[in-house]
Amino acid sequence: MAACDICPRACLVDRELATGYCGAGSTPHIARAALHMWEEPCISGTRGSGTIFFCGCNLSCLFCQNHAISHGAAGVQMDAGALADCMLQLQAQGAHNINLVTPAPHVPVLCKAIPMARQMGLRLPIVYNTNAYERVETLRRLEGFVDIYLPDIKYVTPVAASRYSGAGDYFEYASKAVLEMQRQCGVLRLNPEGIAVRGLLVRHLVLPGSVDEARRVLGFIAKALPQATHISLMGQYMPCHKASFAPLNRKLLRREYERAIEHCVSLGFTNVLIQSLSSADSAFVPPFAAQNEENIAKL
Ligand code: SF4
Repeated sequence: MAACDICPRACLVDRELATGYCGAGSTPHIARAALHMWEEPCISGTRGSGTIFFCGCNLSCLFCQNHAISHGAAGVQMDAGALADCMLQLQAQGAHNINLVTPAPHVPVLCKAIPMARQMGLRLPIVYNTNAYERVETLRRLEGFVDIYLPDIKYVTPVAASRYSGAGDYFEYASKAVLEMQRQCGVLRLNPEGIAVRGLLVRHLVLPGSVDEARRVLGFIAKALPQATHISLMGQYMPCHKASFAPLNRKLLRREYERAIEHCVSLGFTNVLIQSLSSADSAFVPPFAAQNEENIAKL
């Protein structure tokens, strides 16, 4: 990692010595590692998803729910061996899968930790839970290690991506990244209990005042991916962090969410998850280690 170009930012910093845009060093900080019940039903199941929240993010979303950890170094530092142990402990707790949250800056460590954990007895699917601002070259390094890709396609237009997340070239990269994820893992497959075992599950969080952006994202999925693609259309937005101006300073309106759902239906998708708008509540944001060291200490 002497000149980091893991993601589209291509900061070219030596992460042993310095940090780039994401704020992550070469050894990841883990803000939380615990069973999580609030992912999609096919991910959380009945026993929970074994989530590992990484510190550091290559976007700067004004409305980031995880801003406490997204550009800092909270929690516990784990090298590849410690991460492998952490995965096995989540498996022992009954997790349905290992869910790597905001993993992009840590791909080199994950390429060591995942095979190590497999050798030590990890049987669970690995979920790569990403903002989709990824380089295809980096994703190729994960082929064979990741079972389920869970990208959140946030925007199509450069204006929205630049204004809300500081990445005007977001879609240029995210669109290619999602195609690579589809190539590696295909359409999502569920086991008889309805739990995801392998494939692609695309998320889109509908933002207030951004139904047209949602339509563009859905239009891209309709054009570029199979009609059977599983889509999680999320309506859980709530204002936080720097979202203090209109329209980001309010929750999503029911009629906005319904318009996005109608568009999804009109495009003929057959596997769409929608949410109750009551899930737009801060109770669904997990406590991170900065506030609750127990999340890590239990492992
Ligand atoms: S992973 Fe971090 S340091 Fe590396 S290119 Fe991306 S933002 Fe920059």
